[in-house]
Amino acid sequence: MGRRHKTHSVQVGHITIGGDAPVVVQSMTDTDTADVERTVEQIKLLADAGSEIVRVTVNTEEAAAAVPAIYEKLAQQNYHVPIVGDFHYNGHTLLTKYDETARLLHKYRINPGNVGFGNKKDDRFNTMIDVAIKYDKPIRIGVNWGSLDKELSTRLMDENARSEQPKSSQEVLHEALVLSALTSADAAVERGLGANKIVISCKVSRVQDLISVYEMLAERCEYALHLGLTEAGMGSKGIVSSSVAMGVLLQQGIGNTIRTSLTPEPTGSRDREVIVSQQILQALDVRSFSPEVTACPGCGRTTSTFFRVLTDEVDAFLRAKMVTWRHKFVGVEEMKVAVMGCIVNGPGESKHANIGISLPGTGEAPSAPVFVDGIKVTTLKGGNITEEYKEMIEEYVHK
Ligand code: SF4
Repeated sequence: MGRRHKTHSVQVGHITIGGDAPVVVQSMTDTDTADVERTVEQIKLLADAGSEIVRVTVNTEEAAAAVPAIYEKLAQQNYHVPIVGDFHYNGHTLLTKYDETARLLHKYRINPGNVGFGNKKDDRFNTMIDVAIKYDKPIRIGVNWGSLDKELSTRLMDENARSEQPKSSQEVLHEALVLSALTSADAAVERGLGANKIVISCKVSRVQDLISVYEMLAERCEYALHLGLTEAGMGSKGIVSSSVAMGVLLQQGIGNTIRTSLTPEPTGSRDREVIVSQQILQALDVRSFSPEVTACPGCGRTTSTFFRVLTDEVDAFLRAKMVTWRHKFVGVEEMKVAVMGCIVNGPGESKHANIGISLPGTGEAPSAPVFVDGIKVTTLKGGNITEEYKEMIEEYVHK
């Protein structure tokens, strides 16, 4: 990756966003925050998957009142992931009424599009900024195209209509998103909040819009930037759109923290979006999070579905182990593991990995050579290959 867009660095608990810090992966719970047990469980799930910051909705008095209990339960279980409170409409009321919640939360997300209108808007916004100053907290000015500041967008559209060289409605929308974020951030600075306490996001749901808007932001400011498509969608559509949009921006050095917003599948787990964010960063060589599993796509030479099952099992095994390995073994996330389907590319790819297995393809003897650091060390056979291979990976990490 080339040069990074220069930004202020923002401290969120023990995590740094921006400056020279690595791009941070974050996520958000979808539980009712007032339900302390379920929210704590989901924060733990996301943190275990590798979410370095977790955002929770703080939308009601009950949710705001539950935050101290959430912090307490997480601390009892030794979880110290920074928590961000997501405030809309009534953030000014909740942050002033629930003092302990305001004191505990590591960061506040403020949406300038729904804090009110006219003077009301300024008062409410200033109230939240004053709380952030009082408790020395960072904020995210989180603009979203679905809740864009109506006064601002109407004014820009009127000006554009009167202009001799009117811009396209898309360009006006981009300008409105960027202006909403930057004027709010500048107003917070004017009020006394440091520029190193501000992260900005401008979320849209189309790839090209996101790229244009963040290129504009990077050109016009040095605030740390939070990247993410909003309503990216379900399944492969959401993953592909997020990967393409954030990939293009990250490749230009734009973006200090990312969230991949995926609509959860009925049977899916919430931590999927954390894994996808990690995979985006890992695919770009921006950061490494867990050992990479090289697996061939399979073809007519693959003898059975076992090859696919083994790949999935090894991948899941590595992710589960990383919860503890990442604290114990420096550089373990750089490890390369191969699971290959036949003799054509199996031994070659396996030799390039730190540890690799080449399963037998059609017509080959029913045995699977294992290579460690390029050297064939054993041949696995029989019905226990999965467990034996996992044990060998574990031994390799511990050696
Ligand atoms: Fe097919 Fe073998 Fe290549 Fe895998 S390594 S894709 S099984 S030829």
